[in-house]
Amino acid sequence: MKSILKSVLCGALFYSGYHWLFNWILAKLLQEKGELQIFLAHRIINSSSKRSSELNLDKLYIKWGQAMTEKEFVRRASFLKRYCKIISMQKAIEKLKVGRLGYQYKVLTFDDTYYDFISVVVPILKKNRIPATFFLTTGIIETEKYLWFDEVATTVNSLSHPKKLSAKAEFVRLICNFIILNDPYKIRDSILGVLKKKNLTKSEESSHASLYLTWSDIQKICNLDFIEIGAHTVTHPVLTKIPISQAKDEVVGSIAQIESHIGKRIVFFSYPNGQFNKQVQQLVRQHFKAACATGNGSMEDMFALKRTNLGQEPFHVFALRATGLLRRIKMLLNKIRVISI
Ligand SMILES: [Zn+2]
Repeated sequence: MKSILKSVLCGALFYSGYHWLFNWILAKLLQEKGELQIFLAHRIINSSSKRSSELNLDKLYIKWGQAMTEKEFVRRASFLKRYCKIISMQKAIEKLKVGRLGYQYKVLTFDDTYYDFISVVVPILKKNRIPATFFLTTGIIETEKYLWFDEVATTVNSLSHPKKLSAKAEFVRLICNFIILNDPYKIRDSILGVLKKKNLTKSEESSHASLYLTWSDIQKICNLDFIEIGAHTVTHPVLTKIPISQAKDEVVGSIAQIESHIGKRIVFFSYPNGQFNKQVQQLVRQHFKAACATGNGSMEDMFALKRTNLGQEPFHVFALRATGLLRRIKMLLNKIRVISI
């Protein structure tokens, strides 16, 4: 109810056009210039010339929140480019270190090694001169393997029940959250075993080549001056749920594979599913300059940087948050509350 009310109010403010005036007044009043925000995205989908089975899977990814359409991505990236300043992860870390954040700085990051990065995202970034960081899960590159949550999505997509797309997306979300909260390996395999009562036919599968990057794709991407490559483990386990020796193999293994293929040092990491604890952070600290979490992170912790899902909120809420108005309204309300106490 609260989020619906927030969305309606944000919509009225955004589409009236008065948000710029409010934002300017609040920025002056609060003497607040802006903040660094890191966005996270996964698949960016262009559905043209795809088979119907792939189109169905694309729709499921979008409903599940693991994908955005190319059109929506262009809309949001263009907005950020026009009204904020999109910088690289490297620049963001430099600014965080010296506390120089007096502007609406934004960083774009993409997780999980999807083929969409080279087929859809890179041409858009190149055209608009937007920097970005791609975090790679190395164990699925040029193998027959799929990321575990892609297996969940593909399997649920092939089931005859539930029929409704929204119910299927909720089912995928529930299974993934359950796996993340528990032991990922044992439970994942049991759940997939139960779901796969029948083998997927070729037409139901999304082909490995259409879903993930190859090393040759990655070599092309990493030579572009606006792209940074980071590590995201070998098999995308929940690092807090496995022994620390195994977590070390995952972290070190992904660095070794990426560096041997691209010939550059890797300095950024992102935690699979944003999950970390002190022990895992300590491990990551030994190998990287900085690491990204998800919404559970913070801009004060260089090894658990907070990231916001680029496509999670409706466009008008995203726009008001990106330009700082929502944060300034919150700051103003906090000041009023303090004064009234
Ligand atoms: Zn991931």
